[in-house]
Amino acid sequence: MKSASELSPWSLTDLFPAQDSTEMEAAFARIEESVAAFEKRRSQLSPDLAVEAFLEMIQELEAINHLAHRVHGFAALQFYADTQNQSAQSFMARVDQFFATIQNRLLFFSLWWKDLEDEAARRLMAPSGDYHYWLEAMRLFKPHTLSEPEEKIINIKDVTGSTALINLYDSITNRYVFKVEVDGEQQELTRGELMVYARHHDPELRARAYQELYRVYGDDGPILGLMYQTRVRDWRNEQVDLRHFASPMAVRNLANDIPDQVVDTLLQVCEQNAPLFQRFFKLKARWLGVERLRRYDIYAPVVKADKLYDYASASTMVFESFREFEPQVASLAQRVLDDQHLDSEVRKGKRSGAFCLTVTNDLTPWVLLNYQGRADDVATMAHELGHAIHSMLAAHHSLFTFHASLPLAETASTFGEMLLIDRLLAQETDESVRRDMLFRQADDAYATIMRQAFFALFERQAHEMIHQNASVDELADAYLKNLEQQFGDAVTLSDEFRWEWVSIPHIYEYPFYVYAYTFGQLLVLSLYQQYRAEGEAFKPRYLKILASGGSQAPAQVLSDAGIDIYSPAFWQGGFDVIERLVKELEALPVV
Ligand SMILES: [Zn+2]
Repeated sequence: MKSASELSPWSLTDLFPAQDSTEMEAAFARIEESVAAFEKRRSQLSPDLAVEAFLEMIQELEAINHLAHRVHGFAALQFYADTQNQSAQSFMARVDQFFATIQNRLLFFSLWWKDLEDEAARRLMAPSGDYHYWLEAMRLFKPHTLSEPEEKIINIKDVTGSTALINLYDSITNRYVFKVEVDGEQQELTRGELMVYARHHDPELRARAYQELYRVYGDDGPILGLMYQTRVRDWRNEQVDLRHFASPMAVRNLANDIPDQVVDTLLQVCEQNAPLFQRFFKLKARWLGVERLRRYDIYAPVVKADKLYDYASASTMVFESFREFEPQVASLAQRVLDDQHLDSEVRKGKRSGAFCLTVTNDLTPWVLLNYQGRADDVATMAHELGHAIHSMLAAHHSLFTFHASLPLAETASTFGEMLLIDRLLAQETDESVRRDMLFRQADDAYATIMRQAFFALFERQAHEMIHQNASVDELADAYLKNLEQQFGDAVTLSDEFRWEWVSIPHIYEYPFYVYAYTFGQLLVLSLYQQYRAEGEAFKPRYLKILASGGSQAPAQVLSDAGIDIYSPAFWQGGFDVIERLVKELEALPVV
């Protein structure tokens, strides 16, 4: 088996030959035709609809979505490959507009389905096979669904309301320019470029980077805060007042199909474990030779180990770590390369960062990387290929049920990273590089677990405060208190961090989304611990979790694997893994 030896762009020919091909125009025409045909079936919808007709309709809907995903996937991937390409931009806009219209025309089916009486729904659902959970999950929203005209009005008003507000927030914040002095030279940077310095070994530069970040956000703080208040009020008006969710967070929990009680337990266990990361920050202070860490220092490297990995050997390491775990997993990842679905090189205009996009269940996923040879880039390769593996293992499910829901979506990706890190640690002979890796693991655990949990806790509080008419300054004060609780006496906070919350796009765009990161990471730590303890015996159970995709409720998938997400002890198990890592670090002699 070979792995990738050279950086390369991807090919989109598995989707369409080109944007302006006859195949593409045929696809638009075909979607339009099928939607029109589907609309004609509307009159058939009734509580005594025959099962055959019902299943036929679902299959038609699936076929429409299947083709729509191909068109949309092509438009998105082409755009990400070159975001400055104007023809790709306008094609993307055409596709977005087209699908918004299509979605509204198809809306009647899901509304009818949610509105149907229980008995009729049970009769139709019973023989629906793989569609069962999708149908069931839709009906969870029955008590929160409005009439068709009301739903349509919300959709239309959202375009110029909350969606426009979020676009405005993005437009304002994406054009920020950050000025910082590096090596005596004044630089003008994007946020992404600026925050590279949060991990720089020069403490003064780290401080300057953060001060500049929150100077810029803080200057607009009152306006960005006002936008947040508006978003939060809109959220409550719709979700709590109109749709009757019990709380602003409950709507996210239902979309994730995670019971409110589980989320409460998860966040509680996180709060209780704040002292664990405080202990890690105190240890890090000793390594950095300072009395107490400043907030600027929490991601500081403890050693100057800037080891670079060439692409060929990085790819070999990733594939070997997968193969060592399970050859089938490695062969699935190999398909991404063989089908030329990997864009790994750095190019001007290409979207930054990394992602894996699964267009449909019958196509190998596409993976975008910007490989530059740092240890992080190697981990990212393992992470994104992990996503691809997850999709392919669940590909036998329908288009509607193969995608894992949010809290499970990071399972294979994070697990893949851990397999890689274990292998790197086992092979690395340079002690300083090994130390660097271990510290990074703890840094990352902080960033994905505790930081996100405290964001969610802040959101919960902020939604309530705004309901009680809190001002922007009062929210900023509450945010500083949230940080004080998180860091205790282990980290010195400076006042500009009061504006951190207005710099987090997630809390504007997807309220309460962030706890899914906490959920996913703690879950994987526990799973990985089981793998270490059980070896071979663990693998079928793990692969079954992945292969179930989104075909069952997360609590069900996990309980089949012997995991009880209602139990605080389960979540504590994830923190116990981190505690062992911190102990291991504490045992190292400080150099
Ligand atoms: Zn991911």
